[in-house]
Amino acid sequence: MSGDDFDGFRDAEAGFRWAGVERLNYKEEGSAPFKAISRQVLFTDPNLAGELRYFEIEPGGFSTLERHEHVHAVMILRGRGTCLVGEKTRALEIHDLVTIAPWTWHQFRANAGEALGFLCLVNARRDRPQLPTAEDLASLRAIPGVAEFLDGK
Ligand code: MN
Repeated sequence: MSGDDFDGFRDAEAGFRWAGVERLNYKEEGSAPFKAISRQVLFTDPNLAGELRYFEIEPGGFSTLERHEHVHAVMILRGRGTCLVGEKTRALEIHDLVTIAPWTWHQFRANAGEALGFLCLVNARRDRPQLPTAEDLASLRAIPGVAEFLDGK
């Protein structure tokens, strides 16, 4: 961690915060569509090949629909929601685990009337996400249940 006097310990704080960890907007670059998400980087270190982050999506919000070569390992820590992984949508509850394989379309939605918070383990060095083309979106929407998911229903 980059904190000047960081000694390896961070206390948990109320509201899924950790001492000295900045809560950031999900993505700095404004191009990818997403809504109402924050990101906290809990562990990042030059000696680690991975990073552990905590994301929180406010009720009604969603992550970017994207795919990439790198893998995600996700554990739900707060609330409920739904995810799309590949061709499947799946309701999410606390402590569920979701692995997202390379080049698999994925999106998380806080569509159960509450915030959805999750840990996400990811490669420290990783490729840039791809966004769906209009053609990709049409193919996804043709899968039973996916259009409803993407429309937030
Ligand atoms: Mn991703």
